[in-house]
Amino acid sequence: MLNVPSQAFPAPGSQQRAASGGRSKVPLKQGRSLMDWIRLTKSGKDLTGLKGRLIEVTEEELIKHNKKDDCWVCIRGLVYNVSPYMEYHPGGEDELMRAAGSDGTDLFDQVHRWVNYESMLKECLVGRMAVKPVAVAKGYKNHEKKLLNGILLKSQVSDLPAKEISPSYDWFQTESLVTIVIYTKQKDMDSESVIVDYQDGSFRAEIIIKDYSYLLHTELSHEIQEDITVRVAEKTGKVEIVLKKKDNISWKYLGHPLENHNSFTAHRDTGLYYRKCQLISKVDVTHDTKLYCLMLPPGTHLQVPIGQHVYLRQTVAGTEIVKPYTPVLDSLNLDLQEPLHPHNRYIYFMIKIYHTGLFTPHFDCLQIGDCVSLSSPEGNFKKSQLQELEELFLLAAGTGFTPMVKILNYALTNITSLRKVKLMFFNKTEGDILWRNQLEQLADKEKRFEVEFILSEPTSEWTGKQGRISLALLSGFVKRSLENSRVLVCICGPEPFTEQGIRLLKDLNFSKEEVHSFTA
Ligand code: FAD
Ligand code: NAP
Repeated sequence: MLNVPSQAFPAPGSQQRAASGGRSKVPLKQGRSLMDWIRLTKSGKDLTGLKGRLIEVTEEELIKHNKKDDCWVCIRGLVYNVSPYMEYHPGGEDELMRAAGSDGTDLFDQVHRWVNYESMLKECLVGRMAVKPVAVAKGYKNHEKKLLNGILLKSQVSDLPAKEISPSYDWFQTESLVTIVIYTKQKDMDSESVIVDYQDGSFRAEIIIKDYSYLLHTELSHEIQEDITVRVAEKTGKVEIVLKKKDNISWKYLGHPLENHNSFTAHRDTGLYYRKCQLISKVDVTHDTKLYCLMLPPGTHLQVPIGQHVYLRQTVAGTEIVKPYTPVLDSLNLDLQEPLHPHNRYIYFMIKIYHTGLFTPHFDCLQIGDCVSLSSPEGNFKKSQLQELEELFLLAAGTGFTPMVKILNYALTNITSLRKVKLMFFNKTEGDILWRNQLEQLADKEKRFEVEFILSEPTSEWTGKQGRISLALLSGFVKRSLENSRVLVCICGPEPFTEQGIRLLKDLNFSKEEVHSFTA
């Protein structure tokens, strides 16, 4: 049973109130929280005005519903009457009205493509857009079909930067193995760019190539064992996915194509794919934050790149709630750090539990062995930003420390040019500092690393620095030691903290390229 008071919910800065990305936040009226919306959708009230009927909507019809009290929006071909949702929209009514009477898919994707609108708005569904007959243009050829080892269609390519970079695939077999080979034609591919899932006979491989995804999605013709091997030849961009046959029989074809099989599309257009992960352990980090270990299912190959996050999804009161989280390591102990090897099935999260929050109290109720859905990774941090770096400054507030964990580890173990890494860590009290002992031990052992804790609500015994992020604090700490040093400043925390930090860094003459901020 959920017991979430509605008065001040969602709190300022809450992900439910406003996502990151510089969009304006609006205070929601009392009784207009997400929980209140969920209650309304379950009340049986007719929210579309169509008494449960679904209709086919023409463009002409859609356009007519463009007022606040009669507002229809189309997302991915489905039309919703969003008028009842207006007052509950965390981004405000005006933001929602930008899509009134039109196709809001692009706008929606720009702002929060990870939000599960199908679940949130299911009671507002009016129907489907009517499909217009498409005139066949002169000279238009039917989809070129090419049979590859028996079954498969040529890439369905959309929005391609250049046709010639479109990947292709082939497969071959031995008595016990099936090897799928993907020719990406891209240099510097690594195993992080390959995400493979095998579940109930369905095989899905997503190869991330810059901002694009090449997808293989097929129902395999025969069963395989769950341990899948991925090999990437970095120089040629050749990806090999090796499947172990369950029965050593000869396959006549690879499988039956499933949705979007053999397609190459902009990454933002491929929906987030989720797989169920098991909770393996949870360990206290502070009074309100824990380290959770999730295990990927055996048929999954997935590595979350440094600086990227995933979405965790659970059903709360019948509605799917999705929140982003940034994986960390199991500790900061560099000696014990295993090389980030591709077969690691454990993913660690450091998550703060907000007792009045929507997602985290439920997440914390999971028992060891329970499952939660985990998406493929997202994020715009690139490892290459650390290449040849000489000085790295990390500014973190609260759980904004999470992306810094892997960055810190990677920088100290891989970047030979690095002279200095400095972490400035803002928290309310001493008890809130995450991995304080580990950070202090690391600073003792690793001369290139320095950490400074700043408290906004210190006790009288605190002898360290105090306050909130300010020019005075930053100017003494975020200082290049040489005029032409190759520098990167990473910043993460509550959105206003991050925004303030970016402004201050600009005042301190750091260029845009020298500052990376983490947002959703
Ligand atoms: P919400 O419902 O969003 O509530 C959050 C705040 O609102 C809390 O202060 C809560 O106390 C307050 N609140 C809720 N209800 C009420 C009420 N009725 N009255 C007053 N106040 C109320 N977090 C992590 O811990 N670890 C991570 O690794 C991490 N990574 C992230 C990565 C990205 C890219 C982003 C954008 C965020 C990340 N977060 C991370 C934050 C995370 O996504 C969630 O926002 C956070 O866990 C809170 O979710 P929630 O649903 O439990 O709380
Ligand atoms: P918190 O404990 O509430 O605050 C941590 C520190 O930040 C405190 O010292 C606090 O000072 C300060 N702070 C808060 N708001 C500020 C503001 N407006 N200006 C300057 N300083 C401010 O933090 P938390 O609860 O752990 O929250 C962490 C935040 O980081 C969440 O919003 C989460 O979404 C975000 N996060 C983002 C990512 C990402 O990748 N984008 C990853 C992880 C976490 P006061 O005591 O004065 O408030």
